[in-house]
Amino acid sequence: KFEYAPAPESSAIVDIKSSYGLFVDGTFVDPVDGTSFKSVNPATEEVLADVAEAGAADVNRAVAAARTAYENTWSTMSGRDRGKYLFRIARLIQERSRELAVLESIDNGKPIRESRDVDVPLVASFFFYYAGWADKLQYAGAGPAPRPYGVAAQVIPWNFPLLMLSWKIAPALAAGNTVVLKPAETTPLTALLFAEICQQADLPPGVVNIITGAGDTGRMLVEHDDVDKVAFTGSTDVGKAIARSVAGTSKKATLELGGKAANVVFEDAALDQAVEGVVNGIFFNQGHVCCAGSRLLVQESVYDEVLDRLKRRVGTLRLGDPLDKNTDVGAINSAEQLARIRELSDVGETEGAERWSPACELPDRGYWFPPTLFTGVSQAHRIAREEIFGPVLSVLTFRTPAEAVEKANNTPYGLSAGVWTEKGSRILWMSQQLRAGVVWANTFNKFDPASPFGGYKESGYGREGGRHGLLSYLNTEEK
Ligand code: NAD
Repeated sequence: KFEYAPAPESSAIVDIKSSYGLFVDGTFVDPVDGTSFKSVNPATEEVLADVAEAGAADVNRAVAAARTAYENTWSTMSGRDRGKYLFRIARLIQERSRELAVLESIDNGKPIRESRDVDVPLVASFFFYYAGWADKLQYAGAGPAPRPYGVAAQVIPWNFPLLMLSWKIAPALAAGNTVVLKPAETTPLTALLFAEICQQADLPPGVVNIITGAGDTGRMLVEHDDVDKVAFTGSTDVGKAIARSVAGTSKKATLELGGKAANVVFEDAALDQAVEGVVNGIFFNQGHVCCAGSRLLVQESVYDEVLDRLKRRVGTLRLGDPLDKNTDVGAINSAEQLARIRELSDVGETEGAERWSPACELPDRGYWFPPTLFTGVSQAHRIAREEIFGPVLSVLTFRTPAEAVEKANNTPYGLSAGVWTEKGSRILWMSQQLRAGVVWANTFNKFDPASPFGGYKESGYGREGGRHGLLSYLNTEEK
């Protein structure tokens, strides 16, 4: 059980520095050309800190540190010893969980209830899980022990800054790789706090390097000649650009990209539970979730009833200060993302869908968007096809299970889906028919370090989590 402050007062719990360097070879260093950018609190628009912007020389330095640590330390260490470091990091994450949760909410805008009860405990559990794998790789089979790739370049988005870091760093290190990770430019602070945790855990210098910066820094990192493995989570467009750049090299890549998941509610579902799952599916983390249930497919016979219950439930959501433990919906992560959500929502109206939001007051400062439903949505509408990545749900209907499958699969993406029904046989049938990497039945947005996660089609390739997530950092044919 973790202990948390009842009402976190940010300044008392977390020490935010006025400026941050790059974490290279076990220490914080200034960027070679001295440039920086600002990280902003999206709930208040206040500048939180000046953060170093890594240029080409810094990327070289970080990759070189990772290479040296790989050759001299990490790849020659026993799996058991690697595991000890990972267990130490996992325990330190638990010990410093309040700080991590508060800083995550301040830098990202997500409700403290989520960062405290979901993100940070999951981050610890991913480190514990992969710590347990580290000593299972040696002498596990008749053949030679599988070998790591070497240096992994890892680029992550802003929606789950710490959780995405754990999905990347924990399996890479367990498998014996060293890493250079670049957090997103709007949410760099918790990755830098994690760097302090690596120091506290006495992790050998160079095994983990954190470099901050915008897309250009990420591009230079994944294109670096001395990188062996690339792991990326983010938008489909950038994912495709990375796939193209990696295609001309011997680098291996895993890509976790966008989604447009269907949450399918059948007439026989336990409707209260289903409505709760639909609300969690789209409003958790302000809908900044690649596997968000952003399309509700509801069977026509229960449409009125479901919509009625849904509106009542959405009307009870509390939007506001991310650090208030009663908040359900926090701030939108950036002005750019807010503009994108607004633009696509306006397109929804122009294309003829009906927009609904509960009466709710938005704070004067910061980036906010109310929970929003669109009804009368057709499959051709852009709001039914494009990832909005915000608290916006498009509601469609179906008559038969076959029609539900056809509509659910009618998307360029294939990351996740949800099925709500009391019929076990229908769950099995639907999970075979749906082209999605994860199919949840009578639940949604459930994550477990032992479960592989990843997509079909434009949602990317490769899996993170579980044994599959470990194998994607090992040079072995066994998958
Ligand atoms: P993005 O793909 O632009 O950024 C993700 C990460 O990639 C960031 O760290 C960014 O700095 C880096 N990056 C950008 N260009 C790069 C390049 N050419 N080479 C290497 N790294 C690069 O995503 P975004 O701007 O943060 O969000 C835009 C859209 O992406 C969202 O609206 C949403 O649709 C999608 N998205 C998906 C996920 C997901 O988990 N699948 C997460 C965040 C965003």
